[in-house]
Amino acid sequence: MFIELTDHLRCPAEHDEQFLVLLPELIEDRWVRAGDLGCPVCGRAFRVDDGIFESGEPPEERGTSALPADAVAALSGLGGPGGYLVLVGGAAGNAGTGVTPGVGVVAVNPEPAIADGTGGASVIRGSRLPLRSSSMRAVVLGPGYAEDPYWIAEAMRVTLPGLRIVGEGEPPVRPDLEILASAAGCWVATKIRNRPPPTGTPPRSPRDSSAPPPAA
Ligand SMILES: [Zn+2]
Repeated sequence: MFIELTDHLRCPAEHDEQFLVLLPELIEDRWVRAGDLGCPVCGRAFRVDDGIFESGEPPEERGTSALPADAVAALSGLGGPGGYLVLVGGAAGNAGTGVTPGVGVVAVNPEPAIADGTGGASVIRGSRLPLRSSSMRAVVLGPGYAEDPYWIAEAMRVTLPGLRIVGEGEPPVRPDLEILASAAGCWVATKIRNRPPPTGTPPRSPRDSSAPPPAA
């Protein structure tokens, strides 16, 4: 994991958003190869091994992407360098190709699996996006993830207002998401500024084991 990405991480547990503290064991050339990420609120610690941030149990594999890397770059609408692009599931299978020069890439639950650092991508595995709200320039959801309300809500949460979310599947309907285009099993949308998310919490990821038991 690229060390500067640690500034944008959050604890994946279901408490108020909280940063994680890195306790590094091995850093090479600004890449964290091994260490722990600790949460000051709930006390959980998460491993970084072989550079991969293990934030939780990923969903079952959902399928590889049909989108070529240059399409990912174009649909994400990233006009210049800086910040981070998040690729999830099959979409992260493209992460190794250096899709967007000058933009950091976060590969979440990549299918097929890639090594951390491939093409400059930081690899994260987990049952949600352990990233801070409104911190990412774009999110691309691969097959399966793009039709899952929980992962769509996560993509909405981490994307900066006014910027893009791309998915492979049927376009979702949300009051805070403007669909710009959809064709050939792919949709492109913008997170609308100043529009609160739908009321009610999104359904939990069925394989999430990190959530604490509900309060009595
Ligand atoms: Zn925590």
